[in-house]
Amino acid sequence: MAPEKDFWNPQVERLEREELVSLQEKRLRETMEACSRSPYYSSLFRREGIDPARFRGLEDLRRVPFLEKQDLRDNPSTYFLTVPLDDMVRVHSTSGTTGQAVVIYHTREDIEAWAQLVARCMYMTGLRRSDVFQNMMGYGLFTGGLGFHYGAERIGALTIPAGAGNSRRQVQLMLDFGTTAAHIIPSYALYLTEVFEEMGVDPRRDTRLRILYIGAEPHSEDLRRRIEEAYGVKAYNSYGLTEMSGPGVAFECLQQDGMHLWEDSFVAEIIDPDTLEPVPEGEEGELVLTCLHRRGMPLLRYRTRDLTRFLPGDCPCGRRHRRIARIKGRTDDMFIIKGVNVFPIQVEQVLLRLLGVGSNYLIHLEKTGTRDEMRVLVEVTGEIWHGDVRELRALQQRIREELRSEILVTPQVELVEPGSLPQSEGKAVRVRDERKD
Ligand code: AMP
Ligand code: ZN
Repeated sequence: MAPEKDFWNPQVERLEREELVSLQEKRLRETMEACSRSPYYSSLFRREGIDPARFRGLEDLRRVPFLEKQDLRDNPSTYFLTVPLDDMVRVHSTSGTTGQAVVIYHTREDIEAWAQLVARCMYMTGLRRSDVFQNMMGYGLFTGGLGFHYGAERIGALTIPAGAGNSRRQVQLMLDFGTTAAHIIPSYALYLTEVFEEMGVDPRRDTRLRILYIGAEPHSEDLRRRIEEAYGVKAYNSYGLTEMSGPGVAFECLQQDGMHLWEDSFVAEIIDPDTLEPVPEGEEGELVLTCLHRRGMPLLRYRTRDLTRFLPGDCPCGRRHRRIARIKGRTDDMFIIKGVNVFPIQVEQVLLRLLGVGSNYLIHLEKTGTRDEMRVLVEVTGEIWHGDVRELRALQQRIREELRSEILVTPQVELVEPGSLPQSEGKAVRVRDERKD
């Protein structure tokens, strides 16, 4: 195992499995106790006949009903508070991509526990106090901004609260401050390479960047590779969600082989979203999380809608916190076309593997008469766009064939000019479904 100095919190990061499980059980009991002071959980416990004082092991958690996003929307957030509102110092909310936003309150201790988690993630990937960290995520209610900001400051890195967007300024800040690490949405990172090019700046040669943190949206291994190649960095996958405080739930270590889910702070289950039963070990399903690190507004068995699986075996880095696979998408990202279930990330995987494909794409679903049509708009590179039309045709044909073999549906493929598709500063919108009335 790596020496102690390589761990932000060696006591917790180096626990053996049995020690980790007993820590989880202890914290779960404390969390349940805290929950029974909230209006929502006290009435739920009464209704379900659950007595937190009689909680013994993790299996007891299975008696608590799942918490759905809709439950958080239907009940005022204050029903989930275990302490008076006056003890709360911060509020964050979800991005509301799939409907009404959900609000999460934090006490001072909750903020500190979260900052420590993010610091642990960043330290694990080699961020140190000598680093210059540029946080290119939206600040404000979105958790990606302040979450990483606090984490980086705890480590002592010089932190630039750049916020999202303003691309040319981002590049300039990197040059002015000698940024070594940055947090950036992966789709935006790819887009930013075009801005670098326009400005005549080569991120590999002209910047000191060595680490990127990419997350907040599903992305493929191919997208990560492209980013690493373009920037000359290591790019680490970062997973989190507002309901569990934000980033810092699961994170890649130096091995870049799955994300360690911090089991001292969360209990993770993976269930079949239809039957709600646990999937067999190692199979894909919906991630369900219980937080053990938050006292003001703890949530039990929250259905994230994110699809993943546990990876088998021990990680060579020495951490025994189980690893989850890259998130495939949310259950509601899936669309059905001609009877086939498709996730946008499957399309991305095909596209980004092909030479000549640029940095953005959009999946259009429309209805012509009674037929569903899928049209994939793909930005190509400048070279291809201005090159021989036969090459353009060949690429179009290739994309069509490769997509057909991946998703079993033949889409229409339209190649478009670099930079012509809408580019989000936040999470990318990959699908436009115009079939719905
Ligand atoms: P929000 O809390 O509203 O900012 O969004 C959290 C959601 O973003 C998660 O539930 C995931 O669906 C998605 N997400 C966050 N990080 C990742 C990641 N590394 N890979 C894939 N999806 C992610
Ligand atoms: Zn590891």
